[in-house]
Amino acid sequence: MSASQKILTGLESELVGLRDIYTELHRHPELSLEEHATSTLVAEKLTSFGYQVSRIGGTGVVGVLVNGDGPVVLARADMDALPVTEATGLTYASEVAGVMHACGHDVHVATLLGAAKLIAAGRDSWAGTYIALFQPAEEIGAGSQAMIDDGLVAAVPKPDVALAQHVMPLPAGTVYTTSGPVLSAGDSLRITVHGQGAHGSMPHMSVDPVVLAASIVVRLQTVVSRETKPGDFAVVTVGALNAGTTSNIIPDRATLLLNVRTYDTQVRDRVISSIKRIVSGECAAAGSPREPEFQFYDQFPLTSNDPTVTDRVTSAFTAHFGADAVHPAPRQTASEDFSRIPDAFGVPYTFWLLGGVDPETYRATALRGTVAQDIPANHSPAFAPVIDPTLSVGVQAHVVAALSYLADHPR
Ligand code: ZN
Ligand code: ZN
Repeated sequence: MSASQKILTGLESELVGLRDIYTELHRHPELSLEEHATSTLVAEKLTSFGYQVSRIGGTGVVGVLVNGDGPVVLARADMDALPVTEATGLTYASEVAGVMHACGHDVHVATLLGAAKLIAAGRDSWAGTYIALFQPAEEIGAGSQAMIDDGLVAAVPKPDVALAQHVMPLPAGTVYTTSGPVLSAGDSLRITVHGQGAHGSMPHMSVDPVVLAASIVVRLQTVVSRETKPGDFAVVTVGALNAGTTSNIIPDRATLLLNVRTYDTQVRDRVISSIKRIVSGECAAAGSPREPEFQFYDQFPLTSNDPTVTDRVTSAFTAHFGADAVHPAPRQTASEDFSRIPDAFGVPYTFWLLGGVDPETYRATALRGTVAQDIPANHSPAFAPVIDPTLSVGVQAHVVAALSYLADHPR
């Protein structure tokens, strides 16, 4: 019996308690940077499992279990919920008005706690150090950076590898891995362009920022369609365009909010410099009296899985779950702030996807070709991962991935 199989013999009896933890978390979601009850629960549990626990970055929690010489593995879960009103009708639906675990971070917390407990209980089967990290505020892209800014790198042993998973609208019982980019880099950009205000009846006295902003929006469509190499991935969305208040006043400025997604740092840099060039060029063409202003916010790094780590974890998953349950992960256009943590330590990582949809439902909708319409995705008010086997598979994935490193050095 392998070390992870030995450790996972304890899983069945843990699942009852884990389901309770999960439904408790789901009933009481907490918004980004407000994960007080969640982080208290996590800290108490980790302490009771025998971990050395520290609070880092406000509501962030890290548990360290040193178990002799060997590799250091860091596994991460995020804890925050979203400002969404739950519409699942589940018996354990959110009891907090306007707040919901609509991205499944409650699954991440419960499964990492389950794995942390089993790995601690099975410490005779491995050697090294296991670090269970619970970060706040993933949804606003601020939590991993908050932990780093608060001294995470100096506070825990340097990992050799970092691991994380995300529950997705894919069939439960399966995991999805891929080398290279798996989640996009995300950049939000607030652009202010300046005009010359005037009475609506006297356009000749104005530099009209409404016309200026409109031509910027049109010209920005060419960044992806004409400037980005076919086959390279980029998204440029103008999500908001605001100018003026009434019909008979030409305003003196316009504001545009842009969202950019890319899988490649060079593509990202080129897209952003194209945006700046187009905005500045259109301002010059309009005779804008002042330089445009560019302000970045809600920035997410690229998540690009290390091939060596991913191969090792994928082989371990395939050996454990069987080839039918391990698939290549489809690239997601969504973004995550997990990779800042391994990047801060300068270590490789892999981030895999965990199925959360009842497999029968998934198969039926896939046959009808209506998965995208009929299965609520992350951030939907109807997002509802099935508890079984999602929690069990999530715990197993964490244990198997960690043990693919830690079990090389049995005590
Ligand atoms: Zn999310
Ligand atoms: Zn998420």
